[in-house]
Amino acid sequence: MTISPRRTFAIISHPDAGKTTLTEKLLYFGGAIHLAGEVKARGANRRARSDWMKIEQQRGISVTSSVMTFERNGITFNLLDTPGHEDFSEDTYRTLTAVDSAVMVIDAAKGIEPQTRKLFEVCRLRNVPIITFVNKVDREGRAPFELLDEVAEMLQLDVCPMSWPVGMGGEFEGVYDLYANTLSRPEGDSREYLGKPIPFTDLNDPKLADILTPDGLEKLVEEAELAQGGYAAFDAESYRAGNLTPVYFGSALKDFGVAELIGALADYAPEPRPQPAEPAPVSPDGTEVTGFVFKVQANMDPNHRDRIAFMRLCSGVFKRGMKLTPSGSGKPIAVHSPILFFAQNRELADEAFPGDIIGIPNHGTLRVGDTLSEKADVRFTGLPNFAPEILRRVVLKDFAKTKQLRKALDDMAEEGVTQVFYPDIGSNWIIGVVGQLQLEVLLSRLDAEYKVAAGLEPAPFDTARWVSAAEPADLKDFMDQNRGAMAKDRDGNPVFLAKSAWEVGYIADRYAKVKFAATRER
Ligand code: GDP
Repeated sequence: MTISPRRTFAIISHPDAGKTTLTEKLLYFGGAIHLAGEVKARGANRRARSDWMKIEQQRGISVTSSVMTFERNGITFNLLDTPGHEDFSEDTYRTLTAVDSAVMVIDAAKGIEPQTRKLFEVCRLRNVPIITFVNKVDREGRAPFELLDEVAEMLQLDVCPMSWPVGMGGEFEGVYDLYANTLSRPEGDSREYLGKPIPFTDLNDPKLADILTPDGLEKLVEEAELAQGGYAAFDAESYRAGNLTPVYFGSALKDFGVAELIGALADYAPEPRPQPAEPAPVSPDGTEVTGFVFKVQANMDPNHRDRIAFMRLCSGVFKRGMKLTPSGSGKPIAVHSPILFFAQNRELADEAFPGDIIGIPNHGTLRVGDTLSEKADVRFTGLPNFAPEILRRVVLKDFAKTKQLRKALDDMAEEGVTQVFYPDIGSNWIIGVVGQLQLEVLLSRLDAEYKVAAGLEPAPFDTARWVSAAEPADLKDFMDQNRGAMAKDRDGNPVFLAKSAWEVGYIADRYAKVKFAATRER
């Protein structure tokens, strides 16, 4: 049997750039949905069902990620959704550890915005190659050269325009594919692209004058020549190495550039890549089934304590019912009802291949960062815990609920929603998050799922560092002298709670033998 190639990717963008619209169109082109608007509708339905997450309703945002799979021309695309809100959770970052490439959507009127940039940095850490989609060219936007230069300068990447917009906004006459020499142009009242590219020999083809206005044509020829001379030529190797980004201009709303984008993912985006692991990186060609959990989602149904662990399959052919051993518990589990996530419904998976994402229902045995494998002889590395940027003291309103609170905080730490720190002195538990929104998620879930009324107060600390030392005596010495600032994380690892990043530097200077880590690999 031949396996269809996999393309496992995510879309990174700032809110409102058009990620939902583009996702919808990708699924539509891939035949996974039949009506525009279904991605949003699906979100709305899901929201209505999961009222444990009132946040989603109140703010109308999706806090949780999902996985969508579609096929086109014999290729299976796995699109991992990254929550599109300004506040990050660690989930957002970790989702990017499970993809082989990313599409960066930017709004033609706005260019690179803060969240795009943060997500980009995470991609860069892992050399995840990026295709750029400049969206909304049907509206007034900034000049293409300005946008290309901004991407090049802010992200330190070579840029390679693959297509060029003929005007924008009111003067928009279509998008010219610089490599295929075709024009997609707006048609009808809706000014949409109807999927019929018009071929030309090149930019000097006299037929172009029959279709474009004289102004439009003159500008296109002039700009395209400048662009082709001024930017790097496309080089697939350089793209895959994360040094060059091909740039497509388009409009997700009006269908411009979407087919080209799927084509680029099919032609250039990497196959499932070897994954960093101990004792050695795991190649997708390996026969042993291995994968890692990058996300755990709880309580899609508030009446059940079920969780879904999202595992990226890294090697081997997974078959339903297979026994896999999680690195966390070390106890083999039989995976009887794995889930593959399709656009509209979840379907039971019989088989999955490297690059695929499998949802594994469990009752809390699987944790973010766990490796699952047949022989329990590998461990994936590099799924980081990030030093929290916001720390809060949890204040319980009813002391009879102490046990429930501890369970809830441990659960949520396991899922990677928040981190929890138990101070060595005193009983005020501290939680840490990387984005404000996670605090609201925490309170809302404490209330709805665990029936624990709690509040959050400012903590006397601002940040946290995991501490270690080559000599146990050095660590003990440090901990003894800083007892008031020491805590344990969910796994019992020692953590130093600092009043400021400055204090971390100051203390680190004084204790040269102690290592202060802002991330902890699980
Ligand atoms: P997200 O927050 O990134 O998921 O953005 P959405 O897909 O929800 O889009 C934000 C807004 O921009 C919506 O009102 C969309 O209809 C609109 N939009 C998205 N793509 C385009 C486009 O190509 N052209 C125009 N004119 N509007 C668009």
